[in-house]
Amino acid sequence: MAIRTIVKHPDPILREKAKPVTKFTPNLHKLLDDMAETMYDADGVGLAAPQVSILKRVIVMDCGEGLIEMVNPEIIASEGEQFDYPEGCLSIPGLRGDVRRYQWVKLRAQDRHGQPFEMEAEELLARCAQHEIDHLDGILFLDRAERVYPISKDEEGE
Ligand code: ZN
Repeated sequence: MAIRTIVKHPDPILREKAKPVTKFTPNLHKLLDDMAETMYDADGVGLAAPQVSILKRVIVMDCGEGLIEMVNPEIIASEGEQFDYPEGCLSIPGLRGDVRRYQWVKLRAQDRHGQPFEMEAEELLARCAQHEIDHLDGILFLDRAERVYPISKDEEGE
């Protein structure tokens, strides 16, 4: 495994639309392994492939309940709203934004072998999934935030 470089806003690659994965090869497995290692190294809870310069529809997340890998993820149902939760991004260091997200989402994706699965997520995991899937469409939290502000001193190092 290897830690990859996380691209930072305003790198134009973060604005590109990622392409669906059609081949479930060792290359994909290496990408997923590297993305998990990169996310943990950066103390993040989620990472999308465009953030490591790969325009493929691949995300990894860990909101405290273990690693989740999703290939070609989609939101197929959603409910409720979460308000004003301070959201951050490994590609936008030093800033937070208050972003309104769905409270609950149902996700459909494939695993690293191409096997389809569905998963429900709420609260932080639902927020994380919406944030990461946005990355696959070139959308950043800055685009959705009602308010963007610098991280306070106490929060630094989180
Ligand atoms: Zn992000």
